[in-house]
Order: sequence, then structure tokens, then C-alpha cells
Amino acid sequence: MRGHGALAVFRFLLVVLALLAYSHVYALEPVAVDANLDGLSLVGHAEFQRDPHNYDSLQQLDPFAWKPLTQADLYQGITRDGFWLRLTLHNPGADAQPWVLVDDTAWIDSMTVFVTAPIPWQQEVGDRLPFSSRALPSPLPAIMHSIAPGETQQVFVRLRSVSGDDMRLTLRLYQPAAFMAALQTYTAIYTTHLGVYITLGAIWLLFGIVLRQPTFITYAAFVTCTGFAWFNLRGLPAQHLAPDTSFWTNEGLGLLVSGALCLSFLFTRKALRLNSVAPILDRVALGFALANDVVAILCALRALPLDTLFLMYRFFNATAIINAYFAFVSWRRGTPHAIWLLIGWATFGLSALSVTWAWYGIKGGPPEINMIAPMTMTQSAALIEVLCFAISLALWIRTQQQERLAAEHSANTDGLTGLNNRKCVERRLDELIKQPSTPDTLWLGIVDIDFFKTVNDTYGHAAGDAVLRSFAKILRANSRQTDIVGRFGGEEFVLVLERIDREGAERMTNHLREAFEATPTEFEGQIIPHTLSLGLAAHAGETDSQRWFNRADAALYEAKHCGRNRVCIAGG
Ligand code: GH3
Ligand code: MG
Ligand code: MG
Repeated sequence: MRGHGALAVFRFLLVVLALLAYSHVYALEPVAVDANLDGLSLVGHAEFQRDPHNYDSLQQLDPFAWKPLTQADLYQGITRDGFWLRLTLHNPGADAQPWVLVDDTAWIDSMTVFVTAPIPWQQEVGDRLPFSSRALPSPLPAIMHSIAPGETQQVFVRLRSVSGDDMRLTLRLYQPAAFMAALQTYTAIYTTHLGVYITLGAIWLLFGIVLRQPTFITYAAFVTCTGFAWFNLRGLPAQHLAPDTSFWTNEGLGLLVSGALCLSFLFTRKALRLNSVAPILDRVALGFALANDVVAILCALRALPLDTLFLMYRFFNATAIINAYFAFVSWRRGTPHAIWLLIGWATFGLSALSVTWAWYGIKGGPPEINMIAPMTMTQSAALIEVLCFAISLALWIRTQQQERLAAEHSANTDGLTGLNNRKCVERRLDELIKQPSTPDTLWLGIVDIDFFKTVNDTYGHAAGDAVLRSFAKILRANSRQTDIVGRFGGEEFVLVLERIDREGAERMTNHLREAFEATPTEFEGQIIPHTLSLGLAAHAGETDSQRWFNRADAALYEAKHCGRNRVCIAGG
């Protein structure tokens, strides 16, 4: 009886052990491999385990550490630990079926697929190997194998990153045609994305060359560099531009990112004239941007480990936030286009901050933060950033144009009356008489206010100014759009009348004279009466305006001489 009981317990334990062992080997249903596989997530279909030792072989793994893969396990944060997954595939059909296992992180260092049974097979893919070594031409790490009709395969996947990176167990299972279609969409999205950057860069490069603006050229270089950095991150240049080297997906990416960082800063400091806004901070930030480039170059030459560059990346947001601060200061000091630099830098800076936050996961930070969300967010933020910068450049051009127009206007305008000044009138007069088709009926009038010195002496200089202003108003009201009127200096004014006969010119100038006489100037409660004298001279074919002037001046002298407050015409 005793022996029987012990045997029963032993048998029971054996069954429990067998069940336990079975549960660890065949815990999940096999995945049916057929023509319908189109990006099947492994959640619910695979098990996984963390591998802090980064074991090379399956035999070293703990057979009891497998856990079913759930949605919550997909993002493992930034870690140096390796990860293993296992699943079972079964082909229920009558034909051999190819299958593809894909991870959606283009920059994963290494992904290896092991098929242990029935026929052992393995293959590795990763961004530390040249693209041409990939069996499957895919920018995303993908491995293809096939399964015979009726066969059941045990598949293991090892994911690892050499220097600590974002670890995602986001593997998907495809049938090859469906995978190729998904890749086409992937390539189209990121190539279009690059196209936007290149187009922006080309436009502003042209503007920079045509308008001789080095800042625009810096912006163009920054945009192009940024576009290629993101393109590179998605593994596309490795496939299409440099398949025989792993340089561009590693050290080369560092060069592009650091180059973009440095160029963005050079652009910002020029666009905001930072060396005059905040000289010390400007130099610190410039030093940092250049140091970043030096590190990138040393990494590219392999004089420094690539990790040094990754360390620098963590400070990206610091530069972005400094630039946002610069933009804010400039904007507050009255640089309107700086607001767009502020929006661009703040958007990018906050996103970059999330990447840095994710990076700190390595050093015991929040491990649940994964890189892909901050990365994708930062990629979108970078696009918003370059667009904001383009808006700021466009605004800058507009401001410069307005400033030029204002400068031109003030160079041609008399400050007291707002009329054209002497220089402007003389230039226009010269243009008029030197042009081949000078109108035959051209009249020049010179106005001089009578006894103006007395106005100043009696009512004060300010009152004299008020009289000059009120005359300017009357002159404007009594001249046509096509007439050239201006102040020649002191209380002397000039008017050039086009396409008007002698009677017309006389009538018009007399009308002006009468209006001035009939409208005394009111100044600080005083009524100041005034009159003017005017000399008129028809254009007699002179190509030298001075001669014409002298004749009009002689007529004015005559008007003064004959008692003032009248219009006299040269030559009778
Ligand atoms: P006439 O009738 O012979 O032209 O006598 P007048 O007093 O008007 O002539 P005169 O050329 O002797 O005086 C011109 C005065 O205009 C002298 C000068 O102080 C004054 N004047 C010149 N420019 C300005 C100005 O911008 N504002 C004021 N208030 N006075 C000015
Ligand atoms: Mg005078
Ligand atoms: Mg006068």
C-alpha cells in the first residue's frame, strides 16, 4: 500500500512536471501561415523574455522565463538588454508558404531569426551591417523564410542593441506580397517627406543667391540636412544611396544630425542678429553647436566611440530651448519675424525634450517611455519648425522691403510739409524733360510766400511753420494727380503742370493764389493772413532744368516787383 501511494504521488508529480514543461514549450496556439498574413502583430501569438546577459545561443536562456507577449510588453524603453521572442508557425495548406518577420524600428542594431525545428536555420539583419548584406531589400529589419506544407516550425527572434537604444517588440508577420505593399507605402511616405525638405531648401537657396542673402542659404542647407537626417533614420539612403556601407545609418547619421543642429543655430543667430542681442549666451550656444560637429566628425573617423555622439544628442533640446529664448528676446525687442522662430524652436524643443527624456531611460529613468513616439513626434515637430522658419524668412523679406520703401520715402519727402523735397522734384523734372516724348504743354510754377519773414517775426517761427503746412495742404487740394508739386526750401514751392495750355495754367495758379489768400492760417488762437506770388514759365524745349527755372524765377521776381499776390508769366 505504502509503495503504491508513493508511486501515485510520483506519477502525479510527473504529470504536473510534464504539464509545466509542456506549458512552457507549447503555451500558445501555432500561427497559421497562409496567403492572408498581412502584418499580424505577435501580441497573443508569441512569448518573450528579457536577456540582461545578451546571450548568444538559445541554450543559455532560462526555459522558465518565457511570458506571453501582451500589448503592454511591446515597448521596453531604452535599454542595453537583449530580448527574445518565440512562436510556433504551422502551414495548414498544401503548398509551401514563404513568410516575413519585420520589426518597425529601422535603426535596430541586430535582429536574428532562429528556426530550431524541424530544420535548424538562422539569419541576422541590422543597421550595423551594410545594406547589401541583407537577404531582403527592406529598410526595416525583415527576415524571410518559408514553411513546407503541413509543417510546424519553432521560431525564435533575438533583438539587441549594441550601445543601448529603444527596444520594441513590435514584430509583425507578413506574407511577402503584402510586405512589399507595406514597404511601398513606407517608402512613399518618407520619400515625400524628404521631397518637402528638398523643395523648401531649393527655393530658399535660389532666393539666397538672387537676393544675396547668406542667411537664406544657411536655412537652405539646414533644411536639406534635416531632411536627409530623417530620411536616413528611416533606413532609406542605406538602401538606395549607399548599400555597401553601414556608415550612413550610424556615424553618417550623427554627421547629418549634428550638421543640421549646427546649421539651424547659425541660421537663427543670423536671422535674429544674436551677437548683439545676447552676446555671451550666443557664444556659448555657438560653441556647443560647433563642439557637437567636432564630436560627430571624430565619431565618423572612429576616433571616438559612437556612444559619445548619442550622449550629445541628449542635449539637443537644450540648444532648441536656448534658441527659443533668443527668438523670444528678439521678438520682445521688436523683431516681428522672431515670433515664428519662437514657435518653430519651441515646438521642436519640446519634442526633442521628450526624446531626451526617453534617452534617460537608460540610466534608470522611466523605462516605459519608448523612442518611437517621441521620434515620430519630433519628426513632425521638425517639419513644423522648418515651415515656421520659412514663414519667418518671408516676413523678414517683407519687413526689409517696408524698411527700404520707408527709407526711400523719407529721402524724397520734406519733413515739415510732407511734400516732395527739392532733390525729388529736381530728379523728376530732369526725367520729364530728358525723356524723348516730353509733353509740349509743360508749365513750371515757382511760389514764394509774401513777407514771410514778417509772419515769423510777428507770430513766431512755429506760426510760420503752420503757414507752410497750411499752404502745402492748399497746394495739394488745388493740384491734379499728375502735377509734380514740392517744397524747394524755406517758403518757396514748385509746381510742374503737364498737358495744360496757357489759360489753364494761369487759371489754375490764380485759383491756388486766391485759395491761399482766402484761407488765413489759424494758429494758437491767432488768425494769420497771407498771400503768395507765383512765376510761371512754359517749357521752351530746354533740356537743362536750371535754364527753365531761371525763367520761372524771373517771372516770380516780376510778380514780387509788381506788388506781390499775383501770378506772372515769363515772356509776357
Ligand atoms: P518776400 O515777400 O520778398 O518773399 O519776403 P519774405 O520775407 O517772404 O522773404 P525772405 O526770403 O526775406 O524771408 C524768408 C524767411 O523764411 C526767412 C526765414 O527765416 C524763413 N524761413 C525759411 N525756412 C523756414 C521754415 O522752415 N520755417 C519758418 N517758420 N520760417 C522759415
Ligand atoms: Mg523767399
Ligand atoms: Mg517770401
